[in-house]
Amino acid sequence: MIHEKLTRYLAGLGDLKLEEPMGRHTTFRVGGPADVFFTPRDPSCLGEVRALARENDIPFTVIGGGSNLLVGDMGIRGIVARVCAPGNSAGLVRPENDESAVLYADARAGKKSFIECALSKGLEGMEFMAGLPGCVGGGIAMNAGTNLGCFSDILTKVRYIGADGRAVDREITPEMAKYRNLAVEDGAIFLGGWFRMRRAENPEASARLIDEIIRDREFKHPLEYPSAGSVFKNPEGHSSWKLVNDAGLRGYRIGGAMVSEKHTNFIINAVDASASDIALLIRHVRETVFEKFGVSLEPEVKMLGIF
Ligand SMILES: Cc1cc2nc3c(=O)[nH]c(=O)nc-3n(C[C@H](O)[C@H](O)[C@H](O)COP(=O)(O)OP(=O)(O)OC[C@H]3O[C@@H](n4cnc5c(N)ncnc54)[C@H](O)[C@@H]3O)c2cc1C
Repeated sequence: MIHEKLTRYLAGLGDLKLEEPMGRHTTFRVGGPADVFFTPRDPSCLGEVRALARENDIPFTVIGGGSNLLVGDMGIRGIVARVCAPGNSAGLVRPENDESAVLYADARAGKKSFIECALSKGLEGMEFMAGLPGCVGGGIAMNAGTNLGCFSDILTKVRYIGADGRAVDREITPEMAKYRNLAVEDGAIFLGGWFRMRRAENPEASARLIDEIIRDREFKHPLEYPSAGSVFKNPEGHSSWKLVNDAGLRGYRIGGAMVSEKHTNFIINAVDASASDIALLIRHVRETVFEKFGVSLEPEVKMLGIF
């Protein structure tokens, strides 16, 4: 049960919704209610909010744009803090100074806004972000990317709230950069990051490349359905889509969840899927691939809450 005093305190710091269906905040469009869904006006308050939640034995979860999440049908207990404002990103990405090729991006900025800002400043190096959904904070946490590059390729420093609740700036080292994870500090709440770009010799070519990447993704990915992108990480030496495909699972369904026919590393919410349908399908795919090929698929999608 959330303390009444705590909810009043949170309401003073941002937007607060009680029993908020998480399906409204995830690209899978599934997930039961968060007890308290909190969007802070200024995310730097989250260290204090997390400490208060801990003192009161209340679970605390941070999310971004919800594009890599599977939230259980029974929802998430405690406080869910959203650090993302993709539709309202103006001013959240800015150049370090007029001459430099370094951009500072607030964690709440949409990746799309990041790209637009970089393009408008005549910079390049961010093309790999084209078509990636969600916010900069989620991209940093996931070290999101594609075979063209990933966040840690251009991220030089992050601002985050550490375990002690204080905001710190920390340089990114190569050891922190993992496959779909940035290992800065356990429980880090990212507030923003500095990205080192390059002056584009031909800015039009950069814009064209971004358009091409987006068109290619539209062609290859089942974007007409709710999903969370690639469900499984690629195991060393393998492609997950190929393992799933060769296991005969293309189009396989459980309830309203289906292995996409267009891209077999996507599970789509084909018709009114529940989170349990999707979770069961993920389990079935893992078991089948392991039985057939002895390869263990590790989910890239983060599972939150109660199923
Ligand atoms: C159609 C589609 C295509 C996709 N394609 C790709 C792709 O090509 N490459 C790729 O890497 N991903 C891809 N994804 C997955 C997803 O978009 C990325 O992982 C994205 O970076 C997640 O950002 P988000 O803001 O939505 O984070 P969320 O999904 O909300 O969160 C992801 C994780 O980051 C944590 N997190 C979020 N914000 C913060 C913060 N401020 N501080 C600390 N932790 C935080 C959350 O706790 C969670 O563990 C795709 C998803 C979809 C729906």
